[in-house]
Amino acid sequence: MSEKPLFDEIKQKLTAQNREESDIAQIEKAYQFAKKLHEGQYRISEEPYIIHPVEVAKILVDLKVDTHTLIAAFLHDILEDTDTKPEEIENLFGKDVLNLVQGVTKLSKLQFKSNEERQAENFRRLLIAMANDIRIVFLKLADRLHNMRTLNFMAANKQQKIARETLDIFAPLANRLGIYKIKAELEDLSLRYLEPDKYFEIVRLVSQTKADREETVRILIDKITADVKKAGINAQITGRAKHYYSIYSKMKRLNITFHDLYDITAVRVIVDSEKECYEVLGLIHSQFKPIPGRFKDYIAMPKGNMYQSLHTSVIGPRSKPLEVQIRTWEMHEVAEYGVAAHWRYKEKGSQKADNPADMQFSWMRKLVEYDKDMANAEDFVNSVKLDLFSDQVFAFTPNGDVFDLPINATPVDFAYRIHTEVGHKTVGALINGRIAQLDTKLNNGDIVEILTSKTPSPRLDWLNFVVTKQASSKIKQWFKKNNREEHIEAGRSNLEHELTKAVFDEYMKQGEFEKTARQMNYISADDLFAALGYGETTLNKIINKLKKPEMKSAESQYHSSSRRKSEKDIVGLEGLLYGIAKCCSPIPGEPIVGVVTRSKGVSVHRIDCKTLENIEPERLMDIHWSGNNTNKTYVTTIRVETAEKMGLLKDIISAVSDNNTNINYANVKSKNNKIGIIELGIELDNIETLKKVILSIQAIPDVYSVKRIQTSYNPGSQRTSAKSKQKQSKQGKQKGSKGR
Ligand code: MN
Repeated sequence: MSEKPLFDEIKQKLTAQNREESDIAQIEKAYQFAKKLHEGQYRISEEPYIIHPVEVAKILVDLKVDTHTLIAAFLHDILEDTDTKPEEIENLFGKDVLNLVQGVTKLSKLQFKSNEERQAENFRRLLIAMANDIRIVFLKLADRLHNMRTLNFMAANKQQKIARETLDIFAPLANRLGIYKIKAELEDLSLRYLEPDKYFEIVRLVSQTKADREETVRILIDKITADVKKAGINAQITGRAKHYYSIYSKMKRLNITFHDLYDITAVRVIVDSEKECYEVLGLIHSQFKPIPGRFKDYIAMPKGNMYQSLHTSVIGPRSKPLEVQIRTWEMHEVAEYGVAAHWRYKEKGSQKADNPADMQFSWMRKLVEYDKDMANAEDFVNSVKLDLFSDQVFAFTPNGDVFDLPINATPVDFAYRIHTEVGHKTVGALINGRIAQLDTKLNNGDIVEILTSKTPSPRLDWLNFVVTKQASSKIKQWFKKNNREEHIEAGRSNLEHELTKAVFDEYMKQGEFEKTARQMNYISADDLFAALGYGETTLNKIINKLKKPEMKSAESQYHSSSRRKSEKDIVGLEGLLYGIAKCCSPIPGEPIVGVVTRSKGVSVHRIDCKTLENIEPERLMDIHWSGNNTNKTYVTTIRVETAEKMGLLKDIISAVSDNNTNINYANVKSKNNKIGIIELGIELDNIETLKKVILSIQAIPDVYSVKRIQTSYNPGSQRTSAKSKQKQSKQGKQKGSKGR
């Protein structure tokens, strides 16, 4: 076979699609590049290897995908099958193309093994999650389609396996994306290898009934064409059998034979406008009796994959039931090519279509936007879930079972997901064959092997990093049942430390712990201590329930505890370690909220502090200033904008001092447009003083504005830039926010 014509066909199609000359040249360059690299390689069919990427590209040309996807189609196997370095692809074709090629290569390494439906669904979601660019899924589907078309060259056992995987994973994926054309062909090809007898029987029966079917459709066309023309509608009417797999699954579902299937014929009417769809529907219903309950308006309510059409079934000519689908040309394109066609229509003429980042997720948003068919709630939820995959991670057992876990899940979460006993006996983990720490965060596609001991030996410190409820509650349960003595001891010493030994002993003497235990539904004081020991309850909860001892000396000692001091200033933090957040520097008298931190107790923020946006609601505590005047002062920062004038800083400083307020630091900047900016860290006792300070600064001539700002008053200590956030939360600093 000469090789030049291989690209000619693609070139013709591209030209017919009015593609840019320069794009076609790039695509041809990719073809030439791949051809050279695959030279001397052959497929099992004994064809030159380059035939495969060419055929994959051909499938994608019909989907009218963008130039980069077509370039990637030619290159999709070269990273794996040749010595080409990624940099070479990047140099020749750019970063975006490299990303696509690497994406397909990564997906091809996934091995799907399980037969369970739930697993299949997880696997489909994993695929999309890993692809992170919908074009990679298109490439994968086209690759799979050509492999299925040439499956007859494979060994029989491989055929079965690949066909199964295609039917379970790739055909539903094509369906999800609305690419009906690829979905139907993948299903038919799979059926051929999975159930060859049934497949060939259906093929034979469909072809035997072909003449009959065509005759029925011809009569229908004759009957309605005149009416359609009279209404001034330009319609294309065709009729054909449904695809083999849909006939097969219907027979199987209803447990009937081919001859009992009454509607294997689908008539399709394509018109120019939506209005005409409904007009044609009316014309057909006036000629043929509709079968009740079969009318579906997917125009008003598109399917989750954006499919739109009117569906009806009628008793057609010669009393043959027919299914009729009515749609516009645009709807037809979407029905055949799904998401690919859709963004083409929506973004035609706009620059956006060429921006890969923009395309990446827009389709998912559209899936959600377009799914208004709430009747099918499950589908809806599933398609929304797809969009939300970013907070999930999918990991495999060595056997190929795949589990979906929340993001940041660790091997311990994974172990408990497999089985509680596996979790309890975990002593180590291999991730992708390498020893890994038990707190390692899992990535999509990781293969996780849990190493277990003979006897259960969970560890309490696992609670610091597990993210699934399942794991944390099983760990706690285990500790509740086991190691009781240790927990009693731990809880008791915790309380002793918090209350001081003298107070603790006094409580013991008065039976206060026994009382509190019963109040909190524990049987004895030991049970209460144990609960504290394994983390079922907290110090704070217990201390709040305890009555203050009557002994005077004990009380003074009790209040000398530095932690207890806080109750004078802030209500809601009694007995807790806390700190004032430096980002917003709240001062007494203004609304505040507490944020529970990992290791520094509670961080007190202003209720309008910007850092709160990233904090999980369950970490927030309802607190307020007590109103008792303590002599404590608080630092906050204000920004003063002024006319740039010498001497103004002095006026401002004296305005502050007149209100008995200290200046903690001052920072003078000036903008190029002659505005002076002065930032002042001021130390004051409450919000009223701050108001006074601001008013007196505002009263100074040439001061434009005075604003309180969010900043760190001590540059270099705690900042909230995105970069340092991660570090902070690792170190347990106050403002650490949840990683994304
Ligand atoms: Mn391939």
